[in-house]
Amino acid sequence: DSAADAAGTAQDAPAGRPIPAVLGADLEVPVKGGRLVGYANLDYAASAPCLEPVSAAVAAALPAYSSVHRGAGYASQLTTARYEQARHTVRAFVGARPDDAVIFTRNTTDATNLLAGCLPEGATAVVFDTEHHASLLPWPKAVRLAPPAFPGEAVRAADEALAGIDGPKLLVVTAASNVTGELWPIAALAHIAHRHGARILVDAAQLVPHRKLNLTALDLDYVAFSGHKLYAPFGAGVLVGRRDWLAEGKPYLAGGGAVRSVGDDVEWHDDPEPRHEAGTPNVLGAIALAAACDALTATGWTELVREEERLITRLRAGLASIAGVRELSLWGDDHPRVGIVSFTVAGYSAREVAEALSGEYGIGVRDGKFCAHPFVRHLLGTADGGCEDDTASAVRASIGIGTTQEHVDRLVEAVRDLVSRL
Ligand code: PLP
Repeated sequence: DSAADAAGTAQDAPAGRPIPAVLGADLEVPVKGGRLVGYANLDYAASAPCLEPVSAAVAAALPAYSSVHRGAGYASQLTTARYEQARHTVRAFVGARPDDAVIFTRNTTDATNLLAGCLPEGATAVVFDTEHHASLLPWPKAVRLAPPAFPGEAVRAADEALAGIDGPKLLVVTAASNVTGELWPIAALAHIAHRHGARILVDAAQLVPHRKLNLTALDLDYVAFSGHKLYAPFGAGVLVGRRDWLAEGKPYLAGGGAVRSVGDDVEWHDDPEPRHEAGTPNVLGAIALAAACDALTATGWTELVREEERLITRLRAGLASIAGVRELSLWGDDHPRVGIVSFTVAGYSAREVAEALSGEYGIGVRDGKFCAHPFVRHLLGTADGGCEDDTASAVRASIGIGTTQEHVDRLVEAVRDLVSRL
């Protein structure tokens, strides 16, 4: 489709391996009455389950690991090689330029904060109110833009805002919304940013588990994402992008590994990777994240996207067929999106729906404002009722590898059942 193509998310030819399995696919959970049912995990956008090849890669690394970059022993050399290979894998996975920095962080939030600390003096960030807090909040100086009514409006608003800013500027935008799943026109936004001498950071936390990303083809300056949404366990994420700001910015953490020498003066590394990775890094997290990248690439995006599209279309159609269920959408039903759907159910609070889905049907979803308070309020048309205000909340179901048609159908029938009780 054209919007996805414009976002640079068109698919590669299939790579051909079968879709890998996830751990925990046979998990059973207790529901009301003490029965056990198969767990329908529909909360991938929060954290996705671990892929079997990811688990295998970590298991293979466990028997011989030691400190990276510093030890002379065999295990240190092996671990260093695996860590640097993971960096290389991530670079290829996002289609980075050969001279881009690839910095391992804890997660997306850590990556955006790292970049925020490296902005040139006086820089202004331009952000939409649709952002996840990880991309909305870290900037010392920011211009916030209202949620745009259509994709072209996003480009126009960014154009206008960037034109009015002097000095260094950074446009920050999420490639796929964690609330609606909708894809943003990141290629067009990158183009506009560059026309104004600005740079663009793309929060790809919700894009990379679902679509191929090519930083070079899209002409993006920075991308950030988290391993735990990409079928790897918690604790590792990445920031990829242009080296110069990162080479000059204050080291993210002060400590060993980030310095070339320490005497009366401290000489920091100029290379962004050691400069911003002080302390012993999360090597197993990096290996896991890279194994997830490899597993998705080996399966091929065509196959992954086909299956996801089939299930999310079925889920959305099922929910749309229930009176009183409203899907949240910024740009309309037909706008392309990844496997995320947020909705409200008339007569119930989001918390009541989520609790009933879990307690009665063994379905795991998320409810709330999804760390995107301004955006969810905008979509619901509610004022700021504070953090205890449950009326300004929605239910979010999100899918990925491991989601079955039975999970999707169970959710739709459960919501239908809840509505029929009113
Ligand atoms: N950006 C988006 C779009 C997200 O969905 C999330 C996670 O919810 C984040 C950033 C933050 O990710 P993390 O909690 O891994 O830092």
